[in-house]
Amino acid sequence: MIWNPQYETMPRPQLEKLQLERLQALVARVYEKVPFYRQALQERDLTPESIKSLADLSRLPFTVKQDFRDNYPLGLVAVPMDQVCRVHASSGTTGKPVVAPYTANDLRMWTEVMARSLTCAGMGKDDVMQNAYGYGLFTGGLGFHYGGERVGATVIPTSTGNTKRQLMLLQDLGTTVITCTPSYSLILAEAALEMGVDLRLSKLRLGIMGAEPWSEQMRAEIEAKLPIQAIDIYGLTEVVGPGVSVECPHKCGMHIFEDHFLPEIVDPATGEPLPYGQVGELVITTLTKEALPVIRFRTRDIASLNPEPCECGRTLVRMSRIAGRTDDMLIIRGVNVFPSQIESVLLEVEGVEPHYLIIVDRERHLDDLEIWVEVSEAVFSDEMRKMEALQQKVKQEMEGTLGIGARIKLVEPRSLARTEGKAKRVVDRREL
Ligand code: ADP
Ligand code: ZN
Repeated sequence: MIWNPQYETMPRPQLEKLQLERLQALVARVYEKVPFYRQALQERDLTPESIKSLADLSRLPFTVKQDFRDNYPLGLVAVPMDQVCRVHASSGTTGKPVVAPYTANDLRMWTEVMARSLTCAGMGKDDVMQNAYGYGLFTGGLGFHYGGERVGATVIPTSTGNTKRQLMLLQDLGTTVITCTPSYSLILAEAALEMGVDLRLSKLRLGIMGAEPWSEQMRAEIEAKLPIQAIDIYGLTEVVGPGVSVECPHKCGMHIFEDHFLPEIVDPATGEPLPYGQVGELVITTLTKEALPVIRFRTRDIASLNPEPCECGRTLVRMSRIAGRTDDMLIIRGVNVFPSQIESVLLEVEGVEPHYLIIVDRERHLDDLEIWVEVSEAVFSDEMRKMEALQQKVKQEMEGTLGIGARIKLVEPRSLARTEGKAKRVVDRREL
């Protein structure tokens, strides 16, 4: 099934014409409404009239995550606040989140692309969708929720956690589709095993999973442990949330809803656009968003694009699985964590040194964060009791900044390896 055949199967020349019209309107809009963009365009001697073909896209300036920080909270917004009807946010790097406002039209567009996504993944109105993405500021919960309702499915808004209750409702309400992160699906599988619940006897048949990196091997594991097809879905707060792209049942890349999101792949080092097929950094321009339009947003996600027609009938370009990131961002239990945040906490606590090692592991499918921290000479020779107090303090400060729990291990002064050049501060043992 295709939710919106007009746009999802549009011949590419026609799609490109639509993209150009929308791009021209977008540039005119941000030029008029967003000082940040007007200045960036003027610096390049560009006006809305400069955009004559899609190739002119590469003349436009990039937007990067730092621009959101510099313009926190609402500096990039292109409409008056009374037209904003909802605000989401994603975890920020220095405590300040990326704030994402939506107009009524933006919410309609988001619901539309989520309805397309769920349909593309193989869900329909007869399905019972249990939504175990987090509800709240995070875009996952409400994004899937409204998409599921739009499709006409029965939506169960369980949100994250409480795995036993998830399993009970899954059986009792006849859940057919689970929407959650790939790592959470394995937690569900394991809990079912422990509780003696045979999910093959349930109605579960499909999982629509994203929000964190995963691999083909992990898909194989999920599909072996749960009676489902596991489908990859991609999105990010700066662009809209989930619903930017999704796999069809052929599982050969994620179709990008290109009438709303114009993708490019660029060389992460030079910013030069790369041809189809080459691997680089995914850059997205939102063609229709009103409250928070973004021009050439550098996602930092590594992927490639394939414009070949797909067996499902969609003409939309497909992006590969995300193969990594150009920065050092870690996604731990769904929360974005940068080593620089950890460093900033350590620099503020007296008695510890900014020498640290971040160890990320996956214990029984749950991400586990441990931070080794060197203490100062003075503290080390002090009493045990003081060490314990220090450990507690670091732990509290860390959790306050990162928004997730971490185990803190204090180690002797100068015991962590020093490297010349780029320090290796992260050991990621998670096997995806
Ligand atoms: P979201 O709410 O969509 O997870 P965030 O803005 O917090 O939003 O995080 C977006 C990031 O999550 C992306 O830039 C990407 O690194 C990661 N991500 C989202 N979906 C996937 C996916 N299917 N595969 C790999 N990484 C993903
Ligand atoms: Zn397809």
